[in-house]
Amino acid sequence: MDFEDTPEQERFRTEVRTFLAEHETELDHGDGAYLEEPGIDRINSLRKTQAVLFDAGLIGLTWPREYGGGDGTNAQQAVVNEELHRARVAGPVGHVGLGMCGPTILAHGSEDQKQRYIRRLLRADDIWCQLFSEPGSGSDLAALRTKAVREGDRWRIQGQKVWTTLAQHSRYGILLARTNPEARKHRGLTMFVIDMAAPGVTVRPLRQMNGHESFNEIFLDDVMIDDAERLGDIDDGWRVALTTLMNERMAVGGGGGEIGIRSDALIAHAAVRLPQLPAERRPLAYEALGRVLVESLAARYTGYRLQTGIEKGASPGPEASAGKLTAVRVAHATADLGLRLLGEDAVFSRSRDGDWRWATSQASVPGIAIAGGTDEVLRNVLGERVLGLPPDKPRSQEPATAKTNDR
Ligand SMILES: Cc1cc2nc3c(=O)[nH]c(=O)nc-3n(C[C@H](O)[C@H](O)[C@H](O)COP(=O)(O)OP(=O)(O)OC[C@H]3O[C@@H](n4cnc5c(N)ncnc54)[C@H](O)[C@@H]3O)c2cc1C
Repeated sequence: MDFEDTPEQERFRTEVRTFLAEHETELDHGDGAYLEEPGIDRINSLRKTQAVLFDAGLIGLTWPREYGGGDGTNAQQAVVNEELHRARVAGPVGHVGLGMCGPTILAHGSEDQKQRYIRRLLRADDIWCQLFSEPGSGSDLAALRTKAVREGDRWRIQGQKVWTTLAQHSRYGILLARTNPEARKHRGLTMFVIDMAAPGVTVRPLRQMNGHESFNEIFLDDVMIDDAERLGDIDDGWRVALTTLMNERMAVGGGGGEIGIRSDALIAHAAVRLPQLPAERRPLAYEALGRVLVESLAARYTGYRLQTGIEKGASPGPEASAGKLTAVRVAHATADLGLRLLGEDAVFSRSRDGDWRWATSQASVPGIAIAGGTDEVLRNVLGERVLGLPPDKPRSQEPATAKTNDR
């Protein structure tokens, strides 16, 4: 990747920067939902921010124009991302829709679905969620048991989902269900768009150890879905789900690495706290800071390498897994050092009066390490696909095209 802007990119960057400065008061500059409880007021503020950015052409820049996107390049999107980061604008509330559901609909949806859903998803008029995981199937996603049984031109859905991020605020979701119990497990699945307000859908928020209720358990009791809401072919849902999962890893690890507290926040924090440490402890603390910042930079370049590949037409492969692993490691290290720099004050850091972000971040990162493929599963992917190590399970146990580790 060329790090210098072309004259055209420089002009575009100035336009974006000017827009963000002029509209500062209309944009949410708080921490992302990752650090703050995404209650309804915050959700509404973040929705407004996404709508303002969409109306200015800064969301969905690379998506097709006919569905509300900008037909732009990845390089332009990278400029926008950098400027949003620089202006400290909070991340988009519709991140599940933008990162996972939207790309899946674009790749596998009917023309009618694209026309009805994409523009509203980009603008956060509708928030979307992803109903994949179940109590008995996370890493081994293809073992899921939620059933979809055909009745004429509709499907009857029965089952349970869990860990569904944003479901309590969502209008729609993408749902993976078993349509053929006789087929091998990866072969009998089908993907649908589900209306979260439909009769039979019950959403219950779950409280996490960081105190937030950002994900939910979902009960699906005789929910009826029109066949027109199927995404892709019957029993071909695994292929559709792979599009979602690949995009999920890109969304988490492909954007330049910072998924937790920003490294510039760590530098500002260290500037205050480091001089307060006893003199003999400072050299080690400086070394730890240097190490975290170098890792953060390396994570950013890993993200850029991924983007460059995509720019040249490659589809994101195992590198997306490496991107997510690296980004999570940096988030861990940043939160950990931030908390350690608080010294004894860390005891009070869970209170709002204290420096609560570090404790919240420390309690949130383990969740990110699990979401969208755990660290262990992603290491399996890298071991097998990049390093050519023997598979985690003998190949004969799984169909060659659809392994557990694709999760
Ligand atoms: C913050 C958060 C948000 C989430 N949001 C969503 C969402 O919006 N929608 C959704 O559908 N799901 C969501 N999930 C669920 C997530 O995808 C699953 O939790 C994840 O895939 C792991 O599945 P599991 O929890 O069932 O753990 P398991 O699969 O039971 O894993 C348990 C442990 O075993 C290890 N393990 C499992 N298989 C292997 C293997 N083959 N090799 C080595 N180790 C292995 C795992 O690494 C883990 O440590 C979210 C999870 C979190 C934490």
